[in-house]
Amino acid sequence: MLFRGAAPAVLAAADGRIIALGRDAVDRSAGARVVELEGRVLPGLGDSHLHLHELVRLHIDLDLSRTRTLAELLRRVAARAGRLGPQDWVVGSGWSGRLFGGGSAPSRQALDRVAGGRPVALLSQDEHSVWASTRALQMAGIPWHRPDPHPMVVDRDPEGEPSGVVREGGPAFLRLVPRPDGPAYERALERVLQHLAALGLCSVHSMDPPETYFALQRLHARGRLPLRVTYNLPADLMEDAGRLGLRQGLGDSWLRVFGVKAFVDGSLGSGTAEMRGGGGVARLSDGDLRDLVKLSIRTELNLCLHAIGDLAVHRALLALRAGVGSWPGWRPRIEHAQLVHPSDVSLFKGVGAVASMQPLHAPADRELADGLWAGLTGSAYAWGRLAQAGVRLAFGSDAPVDSADPMLGLEAATGWRSRVGWHPELALTRREALLAYTAGVAFAGGVERQEGRLRPGYRCDLTVVRDSRVVATVVGGVLRSAAPDPT
Ligand SMILES: [Zn+2]
Repeated sequence: MLFRGAAPAVLAAADGRIIALGRDAVDRSAGARVVELEGRVLPGLGDSHLHLHELVRLHIDLDLSRTRTLAELLRRVAARAGRLGPQDWVVGSGWSGRLFGGGSAPSRQALDRVAGGRPVALLSQDEHSVWASTRALQMAGIPWHRPDPHPMVVDRDPEGEPSGVVREGGPAFLRLVPRPDGPAYERALERVLQHLAALGLCSVHSMDPPETYFALQRLHARGRLPLRVTYNLPADLMEDAGRLGLRQGLGDSWLRVFGVKAFVDGSLGSGTAEMRGGGGVARLSDGDLRDLVKLSIRTELNLCLHAIGDLAVHRALLALRAGVGSWPGWRPRIEHAQLVHPSDVSLFKGVGAVASMQPLHAPADRELADGLWAGLTGSAYAWGRLAQAGVRLAFGSDAPVDSADPMLGLEAATGWRSRVGWHPELALTRREALLAYTAGVAFAGGVERQEGRLRPGYRCDLTVVRDSRVVATVVGGVLRSAAPDPT
């Protein structure tokens, strides 16, 4: 297959690998089928951190991410409840704290009223808070007059009763809500993957529950994966995965296991990021982290440690020291790393941790960070500083927390900071940012010798861009998505 018209031309073999590039590709293309493209050919872009499960749920449940006012949100909950039986759950996600202002707060009573007393669980956009109705709070066992169960933080009214929002309490609710049935889930997952391919993505790293992995395997068995997926299990299944002998690399180039995702702390928006200056929630103690590193060495499953506050990042890095050099595939990652104390940058590099970061979080969180991290934002979303210190960056979106569009992420990582005047010294050059979306993502999944570069022998994954727009996506030497020609 010869991809020509865009620069450089690329010649791919039937096995989906690159044979030659540029003039060489054209010269050696006798007998090849030709795909005409226009624009610039980049190595296939990847996303090192997103949530396919939540993207699927947005297709199935109430998607509140584009809801602009509280009244609109309540109307939509009421409309959904009206179509359900009296005991059924109303499930939704994507609401933002911006809907509330001037002293108003999300209350359980508001949901009770519009949902007719049904259990309602609405996951916030950053996925770290659940806004629930009274019935849902009771069913999830949220204590009315006892202390918060770790690691939850329960918002309370002046009488001390739960007022509606539970931070870091998602699992207690998600356990209870009905699961979509298999075929509906798979259809939605396929649509989600096709949408991601159309955005120019050739590979994604998913942080998802096992049901997503199951559905991915079913799609793969029918040859219906349009892009490559690296799957990370929830950390509470690591022990079981180890017993089954699952290890990093299981699978093939389309669907493979890398490791596990564990939460060291919470989030900036929910006020649960763990800070050196005090505050936040430690979801894993130092002892838990030590055990996790030991288990990672024993099972040969890599660690993707979610750490947002500067203390969580620090504790995660300290714990990772015990694993350095433990097995050839050892490749720990810090997910988000939104606030890295300057004195931890050399430790980051020293333990060989990958900084798996999401450039769009910076524009999305800027106001919050200026408020909650006043005086510290010179070390927030510090891509430039980490890259200059030699820390490997892998970029992604955390979708659906932010848009999965890598072109928006590229702009946030490069031009955005100087444009708005927010610590422009932390921005990346276009070349550095592209590396983080390509070779960096490949490195963060342990496949840097096969993916992430335009080079003979590498997999023929290409993102074709014209005027900063993705016009075609090629994965494994096959055109998976092409924008309609505007002419
Ligand atoms: Zn995430």
